[in-house]
Formats: sequence, C-alpha cells, structure tokens
Amino acid sequence: MGYNNRMTLTDGNMLRYSRNVLIEEIGTEGQERIFGSSILVVGAGGLGSPALLYLAAAGVGRIGVVDRDRVEISNLNRQVIHREKSVGRRKVESAGDSIRALRSEILLEEHGFAVTVENAVQLFRRYDVVIDGSDNFPTKYLCSDASVLTGVPLVHAGVLRFGGQMTTILPGKGPCLRCLIPDIPPRRDAPACAEAGILGGVAGVVGAWQAVEAIKVVAGVGEPLAGRLLSVDTLAGTVSVHAVSRDPQCPACGESPRIRLPLEASEYEQERSCAL
Ligand SMILES: [Zn+2]
Repeated sequence: MGYNNRMTLTDGNMLRYSRNVLIEEIGTEGQERIFGSSILVVGAGGLGSPALLYLAAAGVGRIGVVDRDRVEISNLNRQVIHREKSVGRRKVESAGDSIRALRSEILLEEHGFAVTVENAVQLFRRYDVVIDGSDNFPTKYLCSDASVLTGVPLVHAGVLRFGGQMTTILPGKGPCLRCLIPDIPPRRDAPACAEAGILGGVAGVVGAWQAVEAIKVVAGVGEPLAGRLLSVDTLAGTVSVHAVSRDPQCPACGESPRIRLPLEASEYEQERSCAL
C-alpha cells in the first residue's frame, strides 16, 4: 500500500532489529516485509496491549488501533499498555503514547471509535492483517465477516479466567468464525470478563501469540493457524490444537453466502458482553 512505511534495514537500525534478522526464517527479506506491512488491532485491551507492543517492537511499518473506550481502573490488571495516570483517557491515546515511547518512528493510526457494520469493511481494507482483540461476540463475528468480505486475514482470539482460544482466518483457504460457531452465543452462555474474571497474564500469553501469528502472515513464514483452533489452559498447563474445517453451508464463507455487502446491522447483537 502506498501509504506504508518505506523503512528498510540500514546501518542505523540494523542493531535494533538484529535479533529478528538473525532468525533464519526471517532474515533481511522477512524483516523488510515486516517494515512494509500494516496491521490493525481491534481493541486496546487485554489482548491488544501485548499485541500492539510486540508489533511495534518487531518493526511493523504501520499499525492501526481501534477502540472507543476510555481507560478504567479495573482494566489495569491486564491492559498493560495503559498506566495509572491514563485512567479516564481515551484508550487509543494512552496506547499511542506507550507505542511511540517504545518506537518513535512508527506510522500509528488511532481510531477512537467502535468497529461497526458501517465502517468495518472500509477499515479492514486499509490493512494487510487484522488482530481481533475485541471484548464481545458481536464484534468478533463482525470482524470475521469483514475478513471474509475483504479477504484480509484475521487473527481471532478470546480469553477468560485462566484460558483462551485462537485461530487465524485466511479467507478462501480456511474456516471463518461462523464455520466454527454458526450462531452468536447468547449472553447467558458467554460470560463476561466482568462476571467471570480474567488473569492478566493469560491475556498476555494469547495477545502476544496473536502478534506472532500476524507477523508470520505478513513475513510469509511458518504455518498460520488457519483451519486449526488452538486452546490454552494455563491452570492445567496444557496447550491443544484441533483441526477445524470449512462449513459448505456457512452463511459467510460457504457455497451460497448470505452475508454480503453491505453488512446488515441486524446480524449482530449490539450488546457488549465483556470489558476485556
Ligand atoms: Zn465460514
């Protein structure tokens, strides 16, 4: 994309990114692909905090962060991109300060609004990959649909208490969220973080892993988690990966999709279920 960062490896920044470049699978070429990439993070919360910092640290050229909320004191057990002094500030501004403190020469786009049926497709089209760090099922389904409609890969995840799950949606190549869970879970079956709790480090583990997935996709290395659902249970100390397949009847990515442009607001329940 024309408005991406034109950064290349030079004598001046080689030392900074040397630990990435030393990795055989990445090397100079992979690092320059990372410099030239653009990644959007939906939500500057528990998942978005580590994801944003690791994307910036890795050298991703252009990063977008979208969140309409303000920092609350109850966010601070897990949303480590924010500081005590930021309580009451807009999350995109607070996150932006932390990101720029880590890396001053970054193209950072702060979108201080919610992802909606009206803006999702337009927003997704501006980036190479999207990370879903949102806090509620309606937004997760909206992100999945926008990924399918635009063809932009999506790294999906959700966390609660001591565990989390993630998968990468590569449109046309693997299942989407609706293939895995056809209907948006009703609120009674989807406990919120505010009700069920979340240990901050668990969001840290999964959010950092999302950053790695997104970097793999833009650098073109490794095997993305497409068609695979990864589950982390830190209480039991287990990680498992299950194969998941595309549903030919899927309303979003199946043979006769009914979710088309423009997206219908009625497809999504607007209630927010969790303050992740
Ligand atoms: Zn699908």
